[in-house]
Amino acid sequence: MNHLKKYRTLFVVTIGFMLSVGLCLSVLYVYHTDATTGVIYEVEPNNSSEEATTNMVYEGFNQYGTFYGDDMVDYWKLNIERATKINIFLDQIPKESNYNLYLYPEHSDTFIWKSEEEENAYELGTGIDVQAGVYDIVVVFEEGESVKQNYLLRYRDVEKVVWPVPDSTVISDYFLSRGGAHQGVDISWAGTFPLVQADLSGCMNAPCRSGNDIVSAFSGTVSNMYQNDTSGSVVEIESSIQGDTLLASYHHVFRSHVAIGDVVHAGDRIAVMGNTGHTIGMTGVHLHMELRKNGVLIDPLTYISPPTDD
Ligand SMILES: [Zn+2]
Repeated sequence: MNHLKKYRTLFVVTIGFMLSVGLCLSVLYVYHTDATTGVIYEVEPNNSSEEATTNMVYEGFNQYGTFYGDDMVDYWKLNIERATKINIFLDQIPKESNYNLYLYPEHSDTFIWKSEEEENAYELGTGIDVQAGVYDIVVVFEEGESVKQNYLLRYRDVEKVVWPVPDSTVISDYFLSRGGAHQGVDISWAGTFPLVQADLSGCMNAPCRSGNDIVSAFSGTVSNMYQNDTSGSVVEIESSIQGDTLLASYHHVFRSHVAIGDVVHAGDRIAVMGNTGHTIGMTGVHLHMELRKNGVLIDPLTYISPPTDD
């Protein structure tokens, strides 16, 4: 019996210790900040606009919130740096429940946008016009099963523009070079030497090699994908930025990660750089990017610019 008691005490102490560690870790998790991406998780409670933290920053998405059993309203802050359009998502909510979102300018009693009833399955709002400033996002539990529930709130700035090769800023050729014949901008690979893929066909004057990841410069829809001897594998993405239709095409890609019809957001990985088609030199791994604004070919560098170290 003494032995049993001893073991039971040891067991209780061990479990107690594990629970304490777990609790500390969850507190750390709640306060976790990712400095590189600007993603900051919710700090509970935020039952009022005053309690909500102004940490849904410009780059932020994938913000996690928790509804507790009797928690019917949750507040978030959204800091918009410039006039743009945003999409707002709400996800990971029980199917039978009804949550709605309201978007208020800070210190205002009048919301500028409200999600549609019973539409809260995935993407709630698309193309919502916002001016620069701080907004309150209010998530209201309307009806359904009131249980402790983690949900996901995120937003995307759909007019955001990003440099298409995060790991390389090397511009190897410019728009209208080669006596006006060059219809885009070339960004060459950087970093480790590209992988040789001798079994892949489609590279006209060198073995096929892969390079850096290519991300979409704009939010939009994959409108076409094709392959030819000159451009190799090409991904085309159509976007709408400040009322203009932009058609961006990414050439010579080694491998694409999208399909026609896919909706992509600026910064989403769409392909891997390559040297498919006709490229110059023995390696030739680069991104050739073209941009058409309302059907007219323009210099992509009027929209995109390499990130600077500051
Ligand atoms: Zn080129």
